[in-house]
Amino acid sequence: MQKKDVRNTNREELEAFFKEANEPSFRINQLLEWIWEKGAHGFHDMSNLPLSLRTKLSEAFEFRAIAVNDYQKSEDGTIKNAVLLHDGNVVESVLIPTEKRTTACVSSQVGCSLDCHFCATALLKRMRNLNPDEIFDQVVSIDRQSKEQFNRPLSNIVFMGMGEPLLNYQNVIDAIDKITSPKGLNISPKRITVSTVGLPKMIKKLADDGVKFNLAVSLHSAIDEKRSSIMPINRVNPLTDLLESLQYWYKVTARKVTFEYVVWKGLNDDLEDILALKEFCKRVPSKVNLIEYNAIGDSRFEQADSRVLDEYQRILGREGIVAKIRRSRGKDIDAACGQLANKNSLNT
Ligand code: SF4
Repeated sequence: MQKKDVRNTNREELEAFFKEANEPSFRINQLLEWIWEKGAHGFHDMSNLPLSLRTKLSEAFEFRAIAVNDYQKSEDGTIKNAVLLHDGNVVESVLIPTEKRTTACVSSQVGCSLDCHFCATALLKRMRNLNPDEIFDQVVSIDRQSKEQFNRPLSNIVFMGMGEPLLNYQNVIDAIDKITSPKGLNISPKRITVSTVGLPKMIKKLADDGVKFNLAVSLHSAIDEKRSSIMPINRVNPLTDLLESLQYWYKVTARKVTFEYVVWKGLNDDLEDILALKEFCKRVPSKVNLIEYNAIGDSRFEQADSRVLDEYQRILGREGIVAKIRRSRGKDIDAACGQLANKNSLNT
């Protein structure tokens, strides 16, 4: 009989197991502490559980843990991990160090079903959603890596790796619960950002569910026609619907959304693009990250002149809209935004 993954077992199932095994229920809390607070990946580590219980647990359950068998380090310190899943699939996670922070960029799906033309992950078919523990493990492993390589713990988490997090809604929420819980990693939700292409229904659901983390939207154009030409999802979720959902998000959460905005030569580097973004931002409390583009070998997309980014920043700033220019990290190892495509991963 196939063993069950202990981390995908709910409390009721554990209670039934402990009752059947004639073990006191307070041991469940000890077990959960090992799993979610200490990040254990095996029953043998659980030194305060009797050996007989550890044996029973290992006969009934297993850990389908991730393995970071391979990583590349960029000149700027950024580290890209190839994360091997229990079924042989591979996703990528990235550690981004800056002077004051270590940020983990994590994946939420194996591949992606959306087809953003500028994104390398879009070249990979969506295989499956990641389970909550597979997302959790990426965070734990980057935290360890940060302590080993930079002598400090992880400080921030962004869901900007492979996949669209809001298409794996419940597992992402469950993973964040474990990451933020005092009975888990106890990381503040204020340090977590979920980035989406902008699915209006799911953005409203986030607001209704009372989430405490930050929201970012990959916008890239505030002109429907242009946005649809690079992000086909915009054809079914146009900007008016997106805007309405973001206004709802702000009304409920009182938290500004961040727009991720890459500027490309000949695509969105005109004055009309800047003015459209300005008008869009004026309609919902927001800030903007203007991102330097990383080529993925598609000649349709070229990095815009840096003066255009400055112009965006100037015009938005005049309206009191905070716009930061983000230079890309980890370009030399294809770990920068939009470059994750398992190029050097374990199964390619
Ligand atoms: S940008 Fe995000 S949603 Fe779009 S294809 Fe890439 S991974 Fe998927």
